[in-house]
Amino acid sequence: MTRRIKLTIAALLILIISYYLDIAYMGTAAYYLAGVFFGKEVRSEELLEKYKSGNIKILIVPGHDEENYGTQYRGVTEASINAELGNYLFDSLQKDGKFSVFITNKITGEHNDWILDYVKTQNTAIAAFKEKVKAVFKNAVKIGAVKRETKVYHNPAADNTSQILYGINKWANDNGADIVLHIHLNDYPGRKYDLPGKYAGFAIYVPDDQFPNGKASMEVAGYIKEELDKIADGSDFPGEKEILIEDQQLIAVGSNASRDGVSMLIEYGYIYESKFFNKELRPFVLRELAEATHRGLANFFRQN
Ligand SMILES: [Zn+2]
Repeated sequence: MTRRIKLTIAALLILIISYYLDIAYMGTAAYYLAGVFFGKEVRSEELLEKYKSGNIKILIVPGHDEENYGTQYRGVTEASINAELGNYLFDSLQKDGKFSVFITNKITGEHNDWILDYVKTQNTAIAAFKEKVKAVFKNAVKIGAVKRETKVYHNPAADNTSQILYGINKWANDNGADIVLHIHLNDYPGRKYDLPGKYAGFAIYVPDDQFPNGKASMEVAGYIKEELDKIADGSDFPGEKEILIEDQQLIAVGSNASRDGVSMLIEYGYIYESKFFNKELRPFVLRELAEATHRGLANFFRQN
């Protein structure tokens, strides 16, 4: 028996015994067990090592698509802005020369053929993957290895188009994507049609720190936030005041611990902000935001 298996059995025994005796078990055992349930924790050091050998893979996922366009303001759809920003980021990262970069959507908003083919041909495998991670997560919650938490409620219909997002997570896991960046714009649900809403500014959603990709995602997101801070304001929505927000619910960041690597969802601002609505300004603003995101990533990898 390897050391890992022995430790696993020991941790399981502690938890099973404490579960039946209904006693509070040690947090460390629960933490270890979460690792056993969800697989290996992502470590920043390993990413930095991989970067040195030029092996970092980044997947960009502009949120939504043509039919399912997310939110909209005065005829400008979220999907079109996400796709434009995402493709600027793709170009910028590719020019860097240090990363292998992939993107799910064309600049016009439609999904690229490679991801559509994958979701179509892997349909059954994706459904099985989704059921498996859900069952594992449910069990982990049941025995106390993970605590369910909700910080900000997300509209399941708008940001959780389940099959394609689980498909993207499965593709990213199977293909060893080190970092997945989901590009979105926020909206204020209470606003009147065609009138701006109450809040403005960016926020970054990262996986909960109980998830194996939580800590490393938070660290990378911190570098991106630092660069975005220089050119944009953080969200003034009270629920987003931390700007970097841990989340268990968004499939994009790996709900049910469905993502092996670093993942985050960046809400670059609220759709009714004039910098997104103004046609002349928009391409400059989106390029700036893409480049700031790139600089943040580069700063993470070039830290000492
Ligand atoms: Zn969205």
